[in-house]
Amino acid sequence: MFTPGFSAPELQIDARSADRRADVYSLGATLWFTLTGTDADAFDPSQLPIGIRPTLVRALARDIEHRFPTAEDLGRVLRSRSDDRLPARGQCLACGHLHLGPALNRRICEDCGCPLAEACLACGRDNPVWIRYCDCGCNLPEAIDHQRDRLELACRRYGELMASQDYEQAARLLAEVAEAIHPRLQDYRSWAEVRLPEAEWKRAESRQACRHAVEEARSLLHGRYPREALARLEQVQPARRDKEWSKVHRCALELIGSYSTASRRQAAQDGTREADTAADRRSARSSRSGPDP
Ligand SMILES: [Zn+2]
Ligand SMILES: [Zn+2]
Repeated sequence: MFTPGFSAPELQIDARSADRRADVYSLGATLWFTLTGTDADAFDPSQLPIGIRPTLVRALARDIEHRFPTAEDLGRVLRSRSDDRLPARGQCLACGHLHLGPALNRRICEDCGCPLAEACLACGRDNPVWIRYCDCGCNLPEAIDHQRDRLELACRRYGELMASQDYEQAARLLAEVAEAIHPRLQDYRSWAEVRLPEAEWKRAESRQACRHAVEEARSLLHGRYPREALARLEQVQPARRDKEWSKVHRCALELIGSYSTASRRQAAQDGTREADTAADRRSARSSRSGPDP
């Protein structure tokens, strides 16, 4: 059902073509309503706190390609964004319990057992969660934001790489995301860990397919069929081609090149030979028709 101000614009045009991104829009519209009391037709990012602005702009994008793919993706970003503000001195990030006096030196929350210290992303040293600057000069919340933006970009890039069947790069990217060890970036790590087995399996499969094509091309080359070898190699998706592929590809091209040079030379020789024979015939004729001694 289309609800003005809350439903995605594409639902108004053709409800059957809409997908999960329509839910993302509705969630964004509800959040916007919660924050401002107006419906999404009056969406104006400048009225939002800076921390949540980019997230809602993406959730409420009219172009579905610019929207979060699923509600889960929106949730991941919202969860990580919600920790942006520093907690009060002595406050646990997880449960909000306030530690006072000697309890300020605790490393674990006395109420919920969560860590009260987190490693600096720049130097690795532990800092209380309510501190802004590490001794190394790193702005801790800013460093987390920066890292989160990078990871968010990697998640999007991963989708593009899988779509273009570049499993090699996709698996590499996932492995990088899975290395996000900071507790506030845990959502990204879990996201990557869930997808890693499939990406690695697809990478192995695509390596195998490339290897297979290269082997076939190589035996075609041995049989002196460079054009057929080249055609077999070209069947491998560009993203899947490896070093071995390039080597055999080069061999095939060289062989084709040498064949055409050889046949040109042959043709040239044939031409000369024909010309010579014609000349021989002419001189034979002229000597025959010449004056007898
Ligand atoms: Zn706690
Ligand atoms: Zn540091």
